[in-house]
Formats: sequence, C-alpha cells, structure tokens
Amino acid sequence: MSAETAEFPLPRRDALNTPYWQSLEEGHLSFQRCGECGKAWLPPRRECPHCLSPEWRWERAGGQARLVSWVVYHIAYHAAFKDRLPYTVAVVELAEGPRLISNIVGAGDPEVLRIDQDLRLAIEHEHGVAVPRFRPA
Ligand SMILES: [Zn+2]
Repeated sequence: MSAETAEFPLPRRDALNTPYWQSLEEGHLSFQRCGECGKAWLPPRRECPHCLSPEWRWERAGGQARLVSWVVYHIAYHAAFKDRLPYTVAVVELAEGPRLISNIVGAGDPEVLRIDQDLRLAIEHEHGVAVPRFRPA
C-alpha cells in the first residue's frame, strides 16, 4: 500500500469517547476526573483507573503540559505516515495530571527536546479529525 492510497487510521468513536473528540473539535482537550478520589485520566474509560468508581465528570485541560519521554520515528509503521518522516511521538503529562501519547510539533530539530520541557497544547486538524498535539512552550 503506497502513502497515496493508504487509508488514514481514524479514531473509533463510541458513546464513551465521543465527548473527548467533540471537545477537541471545539478547541479543547478534555479528560475525566473521578468524583470519589479526585484523580484524573486519559484515555476515556468507564471507571476510575485508581479506585474503580463509576462516578466521574469531564474537565477541560488548560493546555499546559510537560514532556515525559519521546522517540523520533524514522520508519513509517503505517503507510499513511510515510510523508511525515521523521516525526516525534511523545508521552506528555498535562498540568492537571493525565498523561497521553501525542506528537511534538513545531520543535524543528528533535535534538532540542528535553525531559520535563514545558509544552503547550496545539490542536491540529487532519483528515477531518481534531488531534491533540503539543509544541514547545
Ligand atoms: Zn477514583
């Protein structure tokens, strides 16, 4: 499958994660917070990963985050990503606590990235999907 014909992998929406994707389309990154223990998390799930409570609510992230870890992809493991090589895949921790796997954009040379580096949310639109990415603050 060539990059031109590769189907872009789109997120599978369901009743649980639709508010997450909807929020991104509206320009916000949302996460869940437990109504029992107060812990926050991503990705969406039906119960708190810490205390298993089914009582939770959506909250909007402020957009501040830090870089936990990253790798630079020089090989496309999906044909749809061939044209963007090299690109950076990172574990990012929101100021509110949840971690997510994302991309770092706008950094130029990945060699400038540092552990704990301050990042800012940068929602990008791709193939009709609003995707949460991060750039150096
Ligand atoms: Zn909890």
